[in-house]
Amino acid sequence: MIYLDNNATTRIDDTVLETMLPYLKEEYGNAASIQHKLGRNAHQAIEKARNNIARHLQVQAKEIFFTSGSTESISTVLKGICERYNSIGNHIITCQTEHKAVLSTCEALSKKGANITYLAVDDQGNINLEELRNHITKDTILICLMAANNETGIIHPIAEIATICQEKGILFFCDGTQYIGKENINLSATPIDIFCFSAHKFHGPKGIGAVYIRRKTKPIQIAPLIMGGKQENSFRAGTHNVPNIVGIGTAIEVLSNADKEQIAELRNYFEKRIETEIDECIVLAKKANRIANTSNILFKYVPNSQLIAKLPNIALSSGSACVSGDRNPSHVLKAMHLSDNDALSCIRFSLSKYTKKIELDTVIDELKKTIHKIRMESPIWQMYKSGLLH
Ligand code: PLP
Repeated sequence: MIYLDNNATTRIDDTVLETMLPYLKEEYGNAASIQHKLGRNAHQAIEKARNNIARHLQVQAKEIFFTSGSTESISTVLKGICERYNSIGNHIITCQTEHKAVLSTCEALSKKGANITYLAVDDQGNINLEELRNHITKDTILICLMAANNETGIIHPIAEIATICQEKGILFFCDGTQYIGKENINLSATPIDIFCFSAHKFHGPKGIGAVYIRRKTKPIQIAPLIMGGKQENSFRAGTHNVPNIVGIGTAIEVLSNADKEQIAELRNYFEKRIETEIDECIVLAKKANRIANTSNILFKYVPNSQLIAKLPNIALSSGSACVSGDRNPSHVLKAMHLSDNDALSCIRFSLSKYTKKIELDTVIDELKKTIHKIRMESPIWQMYKSGLLH
């Protein structure tokens, strides 16, 4: 199996797994049971992981809170901010191309009276910062924009957005799920107020994430979604998942810039070969600033469901894993002005540090053969080639 679906999830790093194993076996204490050694060991392991994350983001350890992953972080932050800031305003600005975790939560909040603005994007997936400024009103409490898009890899100008929010005194919540591990971030230099991410996107375990909440300069208030004990300073109750927390701490510690460079080189090689060797294909958002591991490619008149089904030994995706059972065209690609037909002919290739050049060569060969076959059997393709369709 050649795995090119790393934006959906990644293989766990061996070092990460090794550091987790003792906490699944002999070190099974509850981190809240600090009266005994096993509990204290678990507590210390959690604090070590928190420190690793804080060091990577260049923030304070007490500003990091563990959750089960980005979906939970996003729900908690959006709902919790609306609840605590409703006396100030009820307006949130987000974007049409956000992850479903954001869009579904915003939809639920709007049914309860929140006013949500969904920014449009251009055909490269970029938002217009002037438009963002123009939408800000005295009721705006939060701007929620992702750092990098899971389907296309497009990077939003998060430093500029953070500056706008700072100028206007509005909170900026950034979903960094696809950004961590692919780009460096220094949250002490970028005034992002809240930033979330998930370990399984950067070779850590599934079911663990963290959210950074600026505490140093602003007393940000977020009502908890999960209530109970006093874990995570009452931000997120529930017994700590110690092995997973150890895993996210190691996963962030072992991130390396050398891996990023190697991935970027491979992705560029892949795109160049595809563009020169396959007729009628377009690399989406080629002109935009993108994370280095992602290529979303439109193969004209090749339905993505057919292509994926005919390549059973290659793990590919037509878009977000959360909606992959959905036969509708991707909301991200539609927002970028693709027709339904084109949006349903796009494939996302997402690489990782484990991707090898020889695997990409095999994928290119397989794509060439399979796309040719699908097109030869397609009356629509024949019509297009004879100039009857555009
Ligand atoms: N946000 C983005 C941009 C994502 O890509 C994902 C996962 O696909 C999520 C949020 C949800 O993350 P999790 O799987 O940790 O719930």
